[in-house]
Amino acid sequence: MDSVQNIINLKKQVPDSVKIVVVSKTQPVEEILKVYSTGHTLFGENRVQELLLKKERLPSDIEWHFIGHLQTNKVKSILPHVTMIHSADSFRLISVINREAEKLNLIVNCLIQFHIAREETKSGFSIDEAGAMLQSPDFMKIKNIVFCGVMGMATLTDDMYLVRSEFRTLKEYFTILKEKYFSRNHQFREISMGMSGDYMIALEEGSTMIRVGTLIFGERKSKVK
Ligand SMILES: *Cc1c(COP(=O)(O)O)cnc(C)c1O
Repeated sequence: MDSVQNIINLKKQVPDSVKIVVVSKTQPVEEILKVYSTGHTLFGENRVQELLLKKERLPSDIEWHFIGHLQTNKVKSILPHVTMIHSADSFRLISVINREAEKLNLIVNCLIQFHIAREETKSGFSIDEAGAMLQSPDFMKIKNIVFCGVMGMATLTDDMYLVRSEFRTLKEYFTILKEKYFSRNHQFREISMGMSGDYMIALEEGSTMIRVGTLIFGERKSKVK
């Protein structure tokens, strides 16, 4: 199976209302162009340098989402080039995004990343941490970010009961945040969850955005988290 057939098949399975972020990390521009040639224009990358290089070489109507851990010193260079950051995982990062966006006169779409997996290596807020941030006076000063929803990664496991319960938890967090803090923000509506191995469960649990790489391109040669 090739990437063209894979994206076409996936689109048949996924409701139109769900956004598909094709994760192109480690893939060369030629591979990305094949998927683009089907009319798909939404791609995700998890490294700043890689995204910038690819963006330069690929059609300008591609929409790029940043999905990986973002270092504060790289915020400035990435902001003008992405339409969404899925991985706002600390208030420190959010503050820097806001500050740099203000300097560049940009409004940046961000998702609040939650830690829902068992692995400690995955980053993100707990629900208590997020609540504390959202109630803090400093948060009220954030003017150059639009919060568009939540993102999370499930544990890498064959235990699909665990994965399902983690997605369900993320959906609950979304609902709590929406009610308590974002009821008047109509852009707060995305739940970014589900990757190649678990996107069907994520869809059943209410995902609005899936992030899939391997499913489209096959196994990556080098292992990148
Ligand atoms: C790599 C990556 C994906 C895609 O993973 P696949 O298993 O290849 O679909 C999704 N989300 C994030 C944050 C990633 O780093």
